[in-house]
Amino acid sequence: MLPVLLALLVVAPPPDTSWPHQDLRERMVQQQIAARGLTDPAVRGALRSVPRHRFVPEVSPELAYADRPLPIGHDQTISQPYIVARMTALVRPDSADRILEVGTGSGYQAAVLASIVDSVYTIEIIPDLAASATERLRRLGYHNVVVRNGNGFDGWPARAPFDAIVVTAAPDAIPPPLLDQLAEGGRMVVPVGPAGGPQDLTLVTNDDGKLTRRTLAPVRFVPFLRPEP
Ligand code: SAH
Repeated sequence: MLPVLLALLVVAPPPDTSWPHQDLRERMVQQQIAARGLTDPAVRGALRSVPRHRFVPEVSPELAYADRPLPIGHDQTISQPYIVARMTALVRPDSADRILEVGTGSGYQAAVLASIVDSVYTIEIIPDLAASATERLRRLGYHNVVVRNGNGFDGWPARAPFDAIVVTAAPDAIPPPLLDQLAEGGRMVVPVGPAGGPQDLTLVTNDDGKLTRRTLAPVRFVPFLRPEP
């Protein structure tokens, strides 16, 4: 009897039920992520585990896991789950990576990255959002994320270089400091284009110091804010 039980435990680990609404997350992954052909197991696992409803506490859990972006206050939005999954898959996160995110917002994309990689540094320009994301990530136990209030245009020189950079607001052109802070072998994903869109989802790779850009798809992100000089 005991060996049978042990075998069952090894073969069929229980699903991660550490957060409620596992069923909604599972359906989100099947219907929105897998159905669109995104197969990366680490990314799917991350979307299954991060409690998205805690990042948009003012809406119902059903809406939190729906196939759409949602307002998070201050005229900002949390991206549609598929976009978060796609941006994450595009930078091919590895467990040993150090990642920079520009545009913390609710902290959801940072939490998704942090459930795959070692360390995430994220910058948010709106002080209230930076403060609430810091507190939320701390409460949820994402201790490998560091949030800073500031202008992401400058990147985070003290922590550079980064194996990956994820920009979740759209600049007209890629800020040069971000290009400088991409490690050799690094990947950056950034929506580039005018406010109001459409913008081009762009992948930049650093291969032996040579930067290559590829435009992947039209997208619509909130604008990359530039503080008054
Ligand atoms: N990644 C977020 C959603 C981001 S919305 C999430 O998962 O919830 C884009 C965010 O980028 C907004 O919060 C906006 O305030 C922020 N932002 C815009 N311009 C910025 C800049 N120059 N530096 C840092 N953050 C910026």
